[in-house]
Amino acid sequence: MDEVIAGIDIGGTKIAVALETLDGEKVAARRLPTEVEIGAYAIVENISRVIAEILEENQVKLAAIGIGCPSPLDIEKGLVMSPSNLQNWDNFPIVKLFKKRFNVPIVLENDANTATLGEYNYGAGRGFKNIVYITVSTGVGGGIIINGEIVHGVGWGAGELGHTIVQPDGVRCNCGSIGCLETICAGVHIARRAKMRLAGGEPSLMNELVLNINEVTAKTVVEAVRKKDQLASEIWTETCRFLAIGVANIITLIAPEAIIIGGGVASAGELLFAPLRSFLPQFVSMIPLEKVAVLPAELGGESGVCGALALAKQVYLESYQVYEV
Ligand SMILES: [Zn+2]
Repeated sequence: MDEVIAGIDIGGTKIAVALETLDGEKVAARRLPTEVEIGAYAIVENISRVIAEILEENQVKLAAIGIGCPSPLDIEKGLVMSPSNLQNWDNFPIVKLFKKRFNVPIVLENDANTATLGEYNYGAGRGFKNIVYITVSTGVGGGIIINGEIVHGVGWGAGELGHTIVQPDGVRCNCGSIGCLETICAGVHIARRAKMRLAGGEPSLMNELVLNINEVTAKTVVEAVRKKDQLASEIWTETCRFLAIGVANIITLIAPEAIIIGGGVASAGELLFAPLRSFLPQFVSMIPLEKVAVLPAELGGESGVCGALALAKQVYLESYQVYEV
């Protein structure tokens, strides 16, 4: 019976499961709703059932599992520690439960690092050794890969790029700090600034794109920018400029071969990448920028599950440190 590996990407609204052979041949990919309300144990049972079905249908044997999950996690103990979108997952022993069910090597990783591994192995990061992945979405997150390895750092906390400070006299972030990159570039904060200025009575096309100001999202801002709306363009330019400051600091610190940017806000494409690239030279003086590729992510919503597969393969090949539970 052929051996396969499984990747699981757990999010607050949906879960992606994919199985492939050790040679990288796709066996099956499924998506299921998370259904947070049914509780962590039932969710793990649902995922396990899907994996068992795929194994049965394809007459293959499971060899390893990689799991991507929102932070905070205790990776050494294989625990999920109540992430904001998976509340009540208190010290939830996710690795132990899958281990009990499938008895294979399992590795747990935070979702941003998993997405980074996905882009590195299957997406825009292929062919590079040192990359930084940034997701600009509801929040801003990321991961750092140096010489092919995720950088974890003290307390497994490295790579929280969204919480580097770019505006110390700015707005307080969910994390407690003031002026994190996330407080300017995250979708909710783009929308926050737009709503604030619209509420102040500034004229804008955005007023016509929504029924009331509270419905404005980052998408509304992008739509108005495409229609050359001045207020939206100011907010967008500010977003791109601060993103450039954050990216420039990463480039100066790490000098990676590639910065890969994904997430909902980055799906604005060249509308984001063109101003971002044009701002960068102002903020980078020590690194030859022409040697740093600034690229859009390629995998979209699949980066997490692809990274989970890469983790499973790593743990199978024992090049990754395995924490037996
Ligand atoms: Zn923060």
